[in-house]
Amino acid sequence: MKILYLHPIMAIAFQALCVLVLIVLLILFVFRISRTKSNSQLPENYSELLTEYVKFYRQLDERGKEMFDKRVDQFLSAVKITGVNAIVEDIDRLLIAAGSIIPVYSITDWQYINLHEVLVYPGSFNMDFDQEGTDRNIAGMVGTGALQHVMIITKWQLRQGFINNNDAHNTAIHEFAHLIDKMDGTMDGVPEIILEKRYVAQWKQMMETTIEQMKNYGSDIDMYGATNTTEFFAVITEYFFEQPDLLKANHPGLYEMLERIYKIAG
Ligand SMILES: [Zn+2]
Repeated sequence: MKILYLHPIMAIAFQALCVLVLIVLLILFVFRISRTKSNSQLPENYSELLTEYVKFYRQLDERGKEMFDKRVDQFLSAVKITGVNAIVEDIDRLLIAAGSIIPVYSITDWQYINLHEVLVYPGSFNMDFDQEGTDRNIAGMVGTGALQHVMIITKWQLRQGFINNNDAHNTAIHEFAHLIDKMDGTMDGVPEIILEKRYVAQWKQMMETTIEQMKNYGSDIDMYGATNTTEFFAVITEYFFEQPDLLKANHPGLYEMLERIYKIAG
């Protein structure tokens, strides 16, 4: 057996080399992390903000949250968010992204190819442009004509929608439901891009019957939904994601159809 003997100077040199290698590895590691970070659109405290404000997010398991985070990041990379006389804070950007993901969470390859920019107004806004497609005294709108591919949302309504999470109202989810509906070319309450053909006639019938009942007898569904089938679809989508249990109890047929539309395993 041969014992390897290192001259003390050699031993020191060897140790120094080891330290140097470690330092280089550490620098590379830190550099990689900071590069990954700078590519991300997520603010540093995104996880705390989403947990605090988004009930849907709180109810996901760890893997679900990771997937949600990734999709928030992708959404924020793809869609420009601009404040118009309003300061857009991290929380606003996150809530818009959350509103976009919640309805299509189970449709993992979903992309809003019909949306390029979201304009954030402070509380209410006067519009000099086409008012078609505005909601509830302008809480939000999906643009048409010159504003094709643009969504407008008010900061106040956006936040209220998530702060009050037990009232079946969420403006962001409402506007994204319109975009989902619009993806097939028409905003008519029938999201043909995700609803199987064999259910289309049944869904149309169901919407019309419910609107008729709402008009005649009133309803726990927001009466704004009785405006037409387009608004009905957006309003019932809000109800479905905000208070699923209540919708299931009060309107099992609608609930079942929305499960089908949004691919929620029942
Ligand atoms: Zn609407």
